[in-house]
Order: sequence, then structure tokens, then C-alpha cells
Amino acid sequence: MTLVVLALDALDYGLVEYFDVDAVRLGSEGQMETFAHTQDTPYTPEVWATVATGLPPEDHGVTGPGTSEWENPVLSMLSRVSGRFSESTRGTLGGLIRRHTGERERIGETDADSVFDREGAVVHNWPGVHDGTDLQRAWDLMNAASEGMARHEFERDLFGLCAGQFAWAREMLNHPVSLAGVHVHTLDAAGHAYADDEAALRRVYERVGEFVKGIETALGADDDLLVLSDHGMRTAFYPGDEDEDPAGHSWRAYASTTAGDHPESVYDVREWIEARATDARIEREGIDMPTERLRELGYLE
Ligand SMILES: [Zn+2]
Repeated sequence: MTLVVLALDALDYGLVEYFDVDAVRLGSEGQMETFAHTQDTPYTPEVWATVATGLPPEDHGVTGPGTSEWENPVLSMLSRVSGRFSESTRGTLGGLIRRHTGERERIGETDADSVFDREGAVVHNWPGVHDGTDLQRAWDLMNAASEGMARHEFERDLFGLCAGQFAWAREMLNHPVSLAGVHVHTLDAAGHAYADDEAALRRVYERVGEFVKGIETALGADDDLLVLSDHGMRTAFYPGDEDEDPAGHSWRAYASTTAGDHPESVYDVREWIEARATDARIEREGIDMPTERLRELGYLE
């Protein structure tokens, strides 16, 4: 059996209700407890590293300024300063520095072991744990949108990225995989961009819901699905956000699953997964590669 974990960044419990996105309701669903560490509200790489390791940020080490390590030591001071700002400000600063120096930030990765180290587990991209390049691409898109990128280009590129991530998760169901995890930044990027555009954000929620439905429909009898977020998104139109600035992270993290009761807190997710993921039965069989032919073609030394 395969447990698919979709890390849907900024999927907001309140907005799931408000937009009535039935496609993400998998059986057991509700608001999940999350945390803030270096910022006033939950910060993406800090929370996802906790979800995967089960450790608080002090222990997994992926924290605020540490999530952005500049290749150029001259810029490390700027990085520390920018760590105090919001993600979008960091994106703007990152874009500025990239244009002027050709350097770019890297998202830090924890040295601690994670739930994806278990036998038969695979992970596509997961902030703070494995391959931050997809998250950087989404941050670049938010940055470009804030600098005037056309809406149709923003959505084309954002959903192109999203479609690849969901297709990977869907494909893993055809393989002997016990656990498959992927992080999808679509709702966070769209939430920041459309925090005051109810119709546009509703459309994005419904579209992401269709992707989730596609995975749920593909599950075999023994497979399960867990959908999670690290925080939600404050908007200009959600009734609970009247006194708040829109486009900031809300505390309404969300969890939904086909596998019994959903996890109650981001700290509980690793244990929750380990109690449910079974070991994949993998028969190891080698591949008889035509090495001589590959050497002739120049693919091998
Ligand atoms: Zn996030």
C-alpha cells in the first residue's frame, strides 16, 4: 500500500469551508495546530521541516534566517536582515540581489532524519528536507507577479509547476512505494497574489481541489491520502479576517485524510504517518544494461 502525503502550502481551513471545496474533504478533516518561531505567524520552511522530522525548529535547525543561505559571503549580512521580513519582501530582495550579482539564496535543509528516510519512502520536493528548487520557482513567480507579471502568465507557470507535482504523486501509486510526499506551493502563491480577489482565489482553490480529486480517484483499495497545510492565508473577504491585514499567513492550518482520524498538530504528523505507512514489499531485481552499446554512443566513459 502507498500513503500519499500532499503538502498543500497555505491551504486554509476557513477558506475550505468558505469556498466549500468538497474535493479536499477526504473523510476526516479539520483545523490543525501549527506554530510560529522566528516570525509572528507560521513560516513555511520551519513548519514543513517540523512536519517531516517531528522536531521543533530548535532541533531540526531550519529556522528563519538560516533558511536562506547566500552563496556569496558578502551577502550573508543582508540575508540575516531579510530574515526578519515577510516572505514576499524576502522575494523582492532576493530578486534584486539575483539581478545585480547573479547569486541566489538556497533554502536550508535539515541534517536530522525525516519520515522520508524510511524504507520504501520517496519525496519529490519538501521545504527544509529535500530539494527546495520548486519552492524557489514558486517564490520567483510571486516576486514576478509583484513586479507586474501578467495574470495569465502567473497562472500558466504556477499551474504548470503544480501539475508536475501532482502527476508525480499520481505516478507513485503504480510503484512499490510505502510513502510518497510532495510539497505544492500553489495556494500560498495564489493566496498572496489574490488575497483581495475572492473570485480569483476561489477558482484556484477549486482547481487545486480537482487535482486532489484526481489522486483520490486513483487510490487503490489499500492506498491512503493525507492532505496537509502549514498555515492558511488571511484575505480581505474572509469574515474572520476583518481586523487583519490581508495576504499574511493565518493560523488556520488544515488536515484531511482517508486514513482514519486526521493529525491534530503539525508536531504529530511524523508519528501519525509512521503508525500508518506499511513497509513496501520490494523485490530487488537488477537491470541488464547494454553497457558496450552505451559506451559506443558516448553515454558511458
Ligand atoms: Zn507556507
